[in-house]
Amino acid sequence: MSLLKCFEVVAGLKVNQNKTKLIAIGEIPDLQEWATRLEQVKTPHGTSLWKSIAAHAHIIFKNSAFKVGVGTNISFWFDVWCGHARLKDSFPSLYKLSRQKKESLATLISLQPSPPSWNLIFSERIEDTGIGHLADLLFSIGAVPPLLSTVDDSRSWKLSPNGTFSVKSTYESLSHPAVSDFPVKFVWNRHIPPKICFFVWSACLNKIPTIDTLRKRGMCIPNCCYLCGRNNESASHLLLHCNYSKEVWNLILPHSGWSWVFPESVEGVAHSWSFLAPHGTGRKIWPFIPFAIMWSIWLERNNRAFNNIAKSPLKVSIDVKALLLSWGWAAFIDFRFRLDHLIFSWDSLFLP
Ligand SMILES: [Zn+2]
Repeated sequence: MSLLKCFEVVAGLKVNQNKTKLIAIGEIPDLQEWATRLEQVKTPHGTSLWKSIAAHAHIIFKNSAFKVGVGTNISFWFDVWCGHARLKDSFPSLYKLSRQKKESLATLISLQPSPPSWNLIFSERIEDTGIGHLADLLFSIGAVPPLLSTVDDSRSWKLSPNGTFSVKSTYESLSHPAVSDFPVKFVWNRHIPPKICFFVWSACLNKIPTIDTLRKRGMCIPNCCYLCGRNNESASHLLLHCNYSKEVWNLILPHSGWSWVFPESVEGVAHSWSFLAPHGTGRKIWPFIPFAIMWSIWLERNNRAFNNIAKSPLKVSIDVKALLLSWGWAAFIDFRFRLDHLIFSWDSLFLP
């Protein structure tokens, strides 16, 4: 009976329940097989009920996530195997240039030489803005590919704690849609370059390629923070709790008339930051500050990791102010500060 109610909700059609018989299905352990069957209900044959259910198959695809096993049954561009959207839709310009449009995830991973790496082939050389898109794609899929196994690829149902599809969980979700509390408005700020918004979004989800993430993906590297040399490197340690990073934050955060308890996670920053805006002329660039700090810390981390160049927290704080200045100039006509204002009179910006 609940399936019929569920069908009524998704299809918007009334079902005469007195004249309808159904075989109870309860939980469906093999969601992958069911999803494949739904995709196949496309011919003019078949009952109208199944065709109508298939027309709402997107509910199944939206609420299920792939568990990567052998990787051969997952389409790299067309299946949602990472993040919340198909890579084809998130990176249309790269998809257009790809020479592997229909390839599986497994085909795009080179196992040799070890460690595994991405084997992405494009029809032409990627230049200029394309490089930014490629960097964003790598943020999204991970610089190191997921570990493949000999187990079949499968889908798990996001709405049930055990990952098994049930009509009950679907009906409840459709009847009482959950309001996502992810701080979307904070993360996707139109005045900040999309590449940096993408970075902060990835950091909120603990997806930036810090050492702990790389180790979870099978890379055998010692876990030691590049900035302090003492703790394990995770997104929240690197961007918030590392002594080096805290010094950068302290050089930027206003010193009077304002207080803030450091959140546990990057997502916590995103949730709390907007409520904290102090007074003063600096209020306009307030939403940009966490982006500029976290991005500058990330660049510093990469410079230490790959170029063996290190800057002091003070120099990084000046980089932060230079970024804030350029974003403020681009976003607001009446933003008339100069870099020397921001360097020498920073605190006065946030006085009432
Ligand atoms: Zn550290």
